[in-house]
Amino acid sequence: MQTTTLAAHKPLIEELMSFAISTKDYVVVSFITPKLSIWIHLCNFFIMFHNGGDMYTILPTTIKPRRLQPGKRTVLVSILLSLLLLISQVMRALQLDQPPRLTNVNVMQESGSISCKSPPQCANLNHYIGAFSEEEAKIKWTQIVQNKLKRRVESHINQEKYFGFIFIKCSNTSEQLKDLGQPQYDENSANDYFESYTQLFLYPRKFKKFTQDPKVNRPNVNINLVMIDSLSRPHFYRSLPNTVELFEGLYEGAHPRVFDFQFFQAVKQRTYENFQALFSGYVNSTEIPFGTYDIPRNPLPVSQLFSLYKKSGYRTLWLEDLCWNWEWGLIKDLKVMNETLYGPALWQKFKRALAVANIDDIDLTLASCDILNSNGKKDPFHDLPAVCFNGRHHHDYMLEYVQIYQESIQKSGQPFLTLTVTDVAHDETGLRVQTLDEPLAKYSKFAVGLKNTITILFSDHGSTYGKFIQSSPEAHVETFNPFFFMIVPKDVQNLLGDVQMRILRDNERRLVSMIDVHNMLMQLLGEKSKVDDKDFVERYVTPGGLLSSISPTRTCNDIPLLQPNLCICQNFETSVEPSHIHMALADFGLGVLNNEILKQHREEGSIGFGNCRPLRAIHLRKVLETHISVELIRYKLDVVVQSAQEKGDENNDLFFLTLEVGSKKAALRLLSYERMNMYSVYNVCQDKSVELKLCICNIKNQNQNAGLLSSLLFGNLIPEFNFFQRDANLNSNIQMIDFLTVPLLGIKPKIDIAYPSQNPCLFTVIHNYKSGITLLAANFCSALHEVEIMMEVNNLNLSCPKHSKFLLHSGDVKMLFGGTVANPKVAWQWSHDIRIL
Ligand SMILES: [Zn+2]
Repeated sequence: MQTTTLAAHKPLIEELMSFAISTKDYVVVSFITPKLSIWIHLCNFFIMFHNGGDMYTILPTTIKPRRLQPGKRTVLVSILLSLLLLISQVMRALQLDQPPRLTNVNVMQESGSISCKSPPQCANLNHYIGAFSEEEAKIKWTQIVQNKLKRRVESHINQEKYFGFIFIKCSNTSEQLKDLGQPQYDENSANDYFESYTQLFLYPRKFKKFTQDPKVNRPNVNINLVMIDSLSRPHFYRSLPNTVELFEGLYEGAHPRVFDFQFFQAVKQRTYENFQALFSGYVNSTEIPFGTYDIPRNPLPVSQLFSLYKKSGYRTLWLEDLCWNWEWGLIKDLKVMNETLYGPALWQKFKRALAVANIDDIDLTLASCDILNSNGKKDPFHDLPAVCFNGRHHHDYMLEYVQIYQESIQKSGQPFLTLTVTDVAHDETGLRVQTLDEPLAKYSKFAVGLKNTITILFSDHGSTYGKFIQSSPEAHVETFNPFFFMIVPKDVQNLLGDVQMRILRDNERRLVSMIDVHNMLMQLLGEKSKVDDKDFVERYVTPGGLLSSISPTRTCNDIPLLQPNLCICQNFETSVEPSHIHMALADFGLGVLNNEILKQHREEGSIGFGNCRPLRAIHLRKVLETHISVELIRYKLDVVVQSAQEKGDENNDLFFLTLEVGSKKAALRLLSYERMNMYSVYNVCQDKSVELKLCICNIKNQNQNAGLLSSLLFGNLIPEFNFFQRDANLNSNIQMIDFLTVPLLGIKPKIDIAYPSQNPCLFTVIHNYKSGITLLAANFCSALHEVEIMMEVNNLNLSCPKHSKFLLHSGDVKMLFGGTVANPKVAWQWSHDIRIL
């Protein structure tokens, strides 16, 4: 593993970094070859530098970009880009502040007392207070008399069931539920005659004086976890200059107060599994992960960590910016989501799950539905340049709330474990996270001063969709390189001792994962790993985690990685030029996925492919090879797949396939796949029974193939498929002919057999590569057929036994099997006989 050979080019790199940070844009720096050949690609707010060579670059903390003078051209470009960014943000702000921002009605004073004054624009309007009601499982609005505002606010925050916030609203409407349930920025409701202003007022709950159980005889260090979903370490450095500057300050001196773990490897590019590792110290690398849109098999094991902290007297808070009753976040991860449950019944089930998870408070999380709703969305993941409420960002409220919560609980003397999750970086642009910088720097400054508290600022993985990852293989490595910072104030350092501090310092440059974080959090309580699986413990667990010396020779083999995954260490996987064997692998891999689409489509009683068309490889972007053992090779392929829209690389889809060849179980198999572009757009045309992640369909026009039709009918249509002209379902059949006859990855498909000899309607088609084959079959007959294949092979790894049978329903276009050469240095042979039954 290496960071990079940066030293020789340090001035240039520093200038680039300075440029990157001043323009707040994407920069990928990749200088491995001594002769620098750099190209610059400018597209919207994207700037990428790379030499197209080796892709592994991790930016070291020694880069201090802000202290350098950028060149003239750099300054010019950066001013231009900053201006553009500013204009776009001002436009957004104007859009969001319509109607104008409400000056605070209520303000919490330093002393904790409340100052209250209704602003001039509310003078002639009705006043309301909105608080979360457990009975109604939503914000309940009550009209109040203006001059009793302060008293009513105070009575709310002193209630038993108080969640740390209330909404205060003035409005010219008295339609209580219909309009007032919705905050005012919803584009549909922001009419000219409609006047309404809302403030989200945060005030901490009061905690009872805490007396520690005398049996607990260890000092309780508070744990403050702050998770920024989908933000890689390089992108943290690019996007958050104020926070980086603060950390650089904390990093200096004899007793640095911040630790920066440079080689933090994600176990998977999804929140659930990384949280699973954090809470339980375990992930199952042999099990196939649940689908993105499915409910997890088991609730997230939050309680495995939280219950132990609770037993030691801690109070726990989980704060997130996702709507508690929508599809994502805690409600899904705790397996509460249920299509038949809503409203109070759903809330009761959720509450029980929170109790089982040992989560005491979720507080401001309950404002997320209304905040998102006011932005016209149910979640913050797509097409939302900022999530705002009354002129402030959502994450700004969250960090303010966690601060007042922590201040309040510290006064009570009770130790705490808090987890704050923001999705501000979880978008397609990579730019939205910049709005987090100032609030995060401010909050981190507060966290350094928090008594007896370890603050852990981390992400689960890097960005997983958007233009950056689609146009850059480097960005794909970043997906598996999250960041992990630990702020350890002086009092905690004294408590842990010098030896422990030195170990932490050493571990900053070791390969670590969430499993080590879990074991550290266990060690801080005096607990040990509770994982039953002995093999797992032996292979992957270092007792004490980050607080123990992690082996400097650790590799990605020592971390339970869920595939598909990329190792952040250099040379763990070898990047190779795509060749014929990889084409055959890609063809086979997509064939497995196509069979799955076909199968899922049939589940709804339909024939053949529906709207979700078979996936077709256009080219291979990147190939990685790992030799797992003498025989077993693992291949990771980035496959560019033809989109249903207008052609052009930018619009194409991208699949990430992991295949294994040479194992005893199956000589050739697709291990896993991931989609690397935004595919939620296809939900407008997908077939409901087909998993969205597999689907590419025509968003714009279902009949787009009409143009293709005539050319095929009168031009290149091959004689065997003539019967299609008589067929009613022309469009989808044309698509199938296209799929079976147009060259794939430069290989012209060859028709193998046509059955019956007179007016054939069943075909097998061979894709013959230099180092492999795939065999497809299409059944356009009205009857079901069985295809029996007997093969003779030499030096070929096959995905099925040499004697196999395949069932073909009417309308099926199926990949039957694939094969790749076992030893490329030796000739290979393949012959076959087919019987149709
Ligand atoms: Zn995530």
